[in-house]
Amino acid sequence: MTQTISVSCKLQVPPELRQEIDVTLKAFAEACNQILEVAKRENVRNTTKLHHLTYREVRATTGLKANHACQAIRRVVGNLKATKQVHQFKPSSISLDARVFTYREADQHVGITLLNQRVWLPLSIGNYQLALLRGKNPTSATLVKRRNGDYYIQIAVDLPTDPTGKTPKVVGVDLGRRDLAHTSTGKSWNGEQIQKVRNHFAKVRASLQSKGTKGAKRLLKRLSGKERRFQKWLNHSISRQLVNEAKSINAAIAFEDLTGIRQRAKVKGSEQRRQHHNWAFYQLRMFTNYKAAIAGIPVILIRPEYTSKTCHHCLHIGKRNAKSFSCENCGWHGDADFNAANVISLLGLSVMQPEQSVLSCALQGSKLG
Ligand SMILES: [Zn+2]
Repeated sequence: MTQTISVSCKLQVPPELRQEIDVTLKAFAEACNQILEVAKRENVRNTTKLHHLTYREVRATTGLKANHACQAIRRVVGNLKATKQVHQFKPSSISLDARVFTYREADQHVGITLLNQRVWLPLSIGNYQLALLRGKNPTSATLVKRRNGDYYIQIAVDLPTDPTGKTPKVVGVDLGRRDLAHTSTGKSWNGEQIQKVRNHFAKVRASLQSKGTKGAKRLLKRLSGKERRFQKWLNHSISRQLVNEAKSINAAIAFEDLTGIRQRAKVKGSEQRRQHHNWAFYQLRMFTNYKAAIAGIPVILIRPEYTSKTCHHCLHIGKRNAKSFSCENCGWHGDADFNAANVISLLGLSVMQPEQSVLSCALQGSKLG
């Protein structure tokens, strides 16, 4: 099995080529809007039918290459299928397939066919993107112009998701109770410092909202960007440490399935905050997936039922009381997050090595035997 991820790379565009890219983006948006109009008027959602209805005219009026026009039809159909309300297309991106896009690994360039010429542009990328693109032969990409005027190419890359090899160890990661993340190896990312930053943002936001002026609204928007960047930075940092930890002991990584987090997050706080947390965990898992894929480390998802109530020492149901966990059966007591992370690790291990399941109760076994 593979998963397709999009590797975003900044393009170094010489000033004389900017206009050529811009007219291509404009022509593509025009083509999409023409096609959208026909699709709505004729009530057509089928690629082939829409092709017959629009292809010739789109090429004649926009001057786009054959593959650009085909991609425009695909884009419109895709958008119509994804959402009922499709707005006008803006000249900010163009979809590219293998005929109009090439990635050249040797010197990190991409070849792109534009409206009037084919150009080779150097990528401006870091180790992270280099690793994801290594040895790949991508066949589709999207050229994007950002609001600040920078150009990016988002290259679609297939990564294997199957465990690459069976490893005897699994680092269990428990998300989102007292700590942001807690591992079965005893590492944790305390929520306190992070909460301080979040509270600061919340305070400023509240005071701005009460003002309600235009200037305050603008500031709010900028603030949400800052908060998002902080979250992103944090998740990059934690995921990097998680993958490094797993790599150093040649282990896989196990997470709980997201649904479990959603159910559990009934903790104090508004719906908004809950959603924010879910999104943050989702991002952390995504970042970990990427980095683990580069490092060749399998990531396992396990069902979340009972992970917080089960004793990792004897697998009986124990008592969880906020921060601490105690087991009447075997007498183990300690940090509740540490216990949960270790249960996740055990469950992950049973997925990695189903032939030697560790999920049998040692105490019961000895009684029976
Ligand atoms: Zn126990």
